[in-house]
Amino acid sequence: MQGSVSDLVLLTLLVLFFGLQQWRRPQDDFRFWLAGWIFILVGYFLWAVGEANAPLPRLENALCFDFTMLGILAFVLSAVARSYGVRRAIVAGLTVAPAAMVMVDIQDFLPVPRVWLAVGLLLGECVVLAVTYRLQQQRPQRQMILTLTIGAVYGSGLAAYALLTPADELASAVLVQALLTAAILFAGTKQKSGRSVLRWTASFGFLAWAAFYLLRVVPSVPVWLQNVLDDFWNFPKYFVGGSMILYILEDAAEDKAQAAETFRDLYEDFRLLFDTHPHPMWICDATGGNILTANETAVKQYGYAVAEFQALRIQDLEVPPDTEGEDLEAMLGGAAEGGIRERHRHKDGRVVWVNRAEREIDYLGQRARLVIARNITERLKLDRELSFRAQHDALTGLPNRQLLEERLEQCLQACRVEERRAAVLTIDVDHFKLINDTYGHLVGDECLKEVAARLKSKIRKVDTIARTGGEEFTAVVSGLSKPSDAEKVAASLMRVFEAPVELAFGALGVTVSVGVAIYPDDATDATSLRRLSDEAMYRAKRAGRNRAAYSSEKAAVLDFKKPDADLRTELQ
Ligand code: GH3
Ligand code: MG
Ligand code: MG
Repeated sequence: MQGSVSDLVLLTLLVLFFGLQQWRRPQDDFRFWLAGWIFILVGYFLWAVGEANAPLPRLENALCFDFTMLGILAFVLSAVARSYGVRRAIVAGLTVAPAAMVMVDIQDFLPVPRVWLAVGLLLGECVVLAVTYRLQQQRPQRQMILTLTIGAVYGSGLAAYALLTPADELASAVLVQALLTAAILFAGTKQKSGRSVLRWTASFGFLAWAAFYLLRVVPSVPVWLQNVLDDFWNFPKYFVGGSMILYILEDAAEDKAQAAETFRDLYEDFRLLFDTHPHPMWICDATGGNILTANETAVKQYGYAVAEFQALRIQDLEVPPDTEGEDLEAMLGGAAEGGIRERHRHKDGRVVWVNRAEREIDYLGQRARLVIARNITERLKLDRELSFRAQHDALTGLPNRQLLEERLEQCLQACRVEERRAAVLTIDVDHFKLINDTYGHLVGDECLKEVAARLKSKIRKVDTIARTGGEEFTAVVSGLSKPSDAEKVAASLMRVFEAPVELAFGALGVTVSVGVAIYPDDATDATSLRRLSDEAMYRAKRAGRNRAAYSSEKAAVLDFKKPDADLRTELQ
């Protein structure tokens, strides 16, 4: 071994700094590379110590060889780990290295007959070739042939060297083959970018390293050459070390570039999806709500120009809560699926109902919110219409039986709390069949609409008038303080028909019969109240129609024809 302590220090520092800088790098090529240098440096260290003071020169020689061999092996693994996988590389290494090491070490300590040494070397070479063959199966044919040829030729030469000469430099001769193998394998390493200058530098380093060891085997080297060798002994190591450092750094830079490209691709995909998304989308900053970017649909939905829209904050779009919003929310009930239902303002002042869904994202380095604001105005209109239709009568637009029942329950609950009276009034048009039969159904329909309108005009907004049958209506009136208030309501409802109903063909006299049941005087539950007011209405019919009947203890009929004189006449 040649070289100097300054080389040892320089290499150690180089490896140490680079190793520390790349410590977190998970790639196996780096780990093997670092291990390789640690072995080489230990071997180097042993040589430097041995130079000064060598109590056991043979042991020191053997250890020095072993560590150098292990180091080169680790470099080989560093070159192949990426292509063949760590496991296969380690198994191959463990098979090859001991063969060579044992052979050389034995020769160092025991005087083995030359024949045995040569046979051992040939057998060891066979193992190396077999393993290399297995390892290289997937490599290009040319490189495999080259490796195997060099192995076979050089292996035979090695055996001949052991057989025919004292083989004093057997260790150097074995290292030459290890270094040649490393050179070939490094020449074959593929970089992602396809660049090759670094792998050729590494290969050159290993080749030069091999050449230096080979010259040690040659029996007589001219003095001048020996001097050159002494001066340049460590040059190949710098080539190998430097090229690997550059190789790994460039690889990391390539990874970075690749990651940046992947990010760019992903961003472009996202942008395309975002820009062409059929629902309005925008990104605003997470804290201030400033809109950072928006898609075309969003800009269109709110009627702004792109620049105007991007100058807005999300708060500028929101309509503050008010009763209209609350009413609609109450009618629709529950939360909008997958988001928040809210009202936004169009540039022209129009209210747009949206379903807003959002999630926090990292947008170009800042915390932001990606918002999708689906326009649900049309859908809500439809929902409203459907829900109205489900609860109202198509002909007259009045609440239907189902809504009446709901309202009656609510009314009774409120009356229970407030301790007030309520009345249920069943209103049936008299002899309606006759109108139908005489003037036809269409006229009948027109008449029903007018009847509904007139009844509705006499009912307060808080009360309810519903169409509960063909020509039957039911009113729920709350907040009565005494039973006679219900009579007044009945009277006012009947009075709306004093004037004849004007229809297309002319005026038509209409009368109604009314049945009244009062909460809590007649009954306290909705079903009984409905039944009693129905029964009362039939009593009014039986009593001659165009009157009101009551379901009080003293069942009475109000004869509308004589409203002022005798409001309550005993029925029986
Ligand atoms: P009463 O005084 O006993 O109540 O006699 P009425 O003829 O009003 O009662 P009846 O129950 O015998 O007849 C009700 C009629 O109302 C029968 C039906 O054809 C008519 N009718 C029900 N629904 C509608 C509707 O939507 N449009 C029209 N045009 N007629 C309807
Ligand atoms: Mg009728
Ligand atoms: Mg009827």
